[in-house]
Amino acid sequence: MSYNAYITKEPIDGADDGPLAGRTVAVKDNISTDGVRTTAGSAMLEDYVPPYDATVVERLKAAGATIPGKTNMDEFGMGTTTETSNFGPTENPAAEGHVPGGSSGGSAAAVAAGEADLALGSDTGGSVRCPAAFCGVVGIKPTYGLVSRYGLIAYANSLEQIGPIAPTVEDAAELLEVIAGQDPNDATTRDATDEISGRTPDDDIRAYTFADAADGDVDGLEIGIPTELLAGADEDVVETFWDGIDELESKGASYHEVDLPSVEHAVEAYYVIAMSEASSNLARFDGVRYGRSGGYDGNWNETFARAREEGFGEEVKRRILLGTYALSAGYHDKYYKKAQDARAWVKQDFDSALEDADVLASPTMPVPPMERGESLDDPLKMYLADANTTPVNLANLPAISVPAGETDDGLPVGLQLVGPAFGERTIIRAGSALA
Ligand code: GLN
Repeated sequence: MSYNAYITKEPIDGADDGPLAGRTVAVKDNISTDGVRTTAGSAMLEDYVPPYDATVVERLKAAGATIPGKTNMDEFGMGTTTETSNFGPTENPAAEGHVPGGSSGGSAAAVAAGEADLALGSDTGGSVRCPAAFCGVVGIKPTYGLVSRYGLIAYANSLEQIGPIAPTVEDAAELLEVIAGQDPNDATTRDATDEISGRTPDDDIRAYTFADAADGDVDGLEIGIPTELLAGADEDVVETFWDGIDELESKGASYHEVDLPSVEHAVEAYYVIAMSEASSNLARFDGVRYGRSGGYDGNWNETFARAREEGFGEEVKRRILLGTYALSAGYHDKYYKKAQDARAWVKQDFDSALEDADVLASPTMPVPPMERGESLDDPLKMYLADANTTPVNLANLPAISVPAGETDDGLPVGLQLVGPAFGERTIIRAGSALA
């Protein structure tokens, strides 16, 4: 069975030894690999071969990992189902006939199908957590600034992080240990070893310890459950979610409900901000600086327009148009500025809820994996499926998705745990009690 998890299968060898020696790590195709084609799922970059490695790829190689290939994804990360890829959709190995989630659907499918031991995805509004949930595996979106994005083809920089996908929480934590750490090539990264590991190492700024936190010990853990994130979810998803909470409770955790009134506006704010940033980030793909050529015939405007008309798919064009509109003079205050205000409100809500809880829990996705083809014609429905993941990116916090069980129809359901900034060890510890 081919799940179409990979766009390019071309192995890249790592160092002979290291913490990931003997293991394969599939890499999402928006993460640059020196000498190996990197398309971001787009016809625009069909023939693009980067001349350098992303920092995370350098770190994988130094850690001894083998990269078996580059995984399928929604075009430029824009989607929730891996159906907007120029290279065809990916099948969900855990629920055939259904989407694997997105945008890092190829990475999650590769892990779920055993076509890679581990994988990297990127998460702008849920793209690591959603496919992890839909494919029945584990995914972590790190705190903003923990992992370098140097060499990541940008979709919406103020929101995104590269994160691990793995069969277990401990495996995901091991991979996070390798990729985390300050990078002089990405000024948004910072050294948080002090907060995270409780010590400042003398020289090695990458000395994070995450895997040892995956000890399953949730005795005394206080969980906050935002009622708003349950309200919009399918009944069978909510039932499976409570099974997961029961299990945590039986191991010594306790929970209380919390209110996050702002999250009602999170999807709107997220899409305005993400599309605005995308319209600016994707301006470089004009067929001259980057991307397939529009074929110069005496008029540069037409050349650029042709390159973009032929190179971009429908969803990407929609977002560039809406983002350009939201940023245009006269509308900037009405949309972009409002979205930034909502973002600040979401952040405040999370910060205050996390004063009385160690983690916040919700279903990762409000729905089980959709049938293939179902959401393609209805972009708004697809955007609304991001209701529980996007607030976390707006707040720049860390979150993990772990399998909570299955619906009565046998479809995987993910449970999301959100922690305070640089609280990766806390969400790893809590998540490891389930997976
Ligand atoms: N589904 C969301 C979007 O389309 C999130 C994608 C992502 O995290 N890259 O924007």
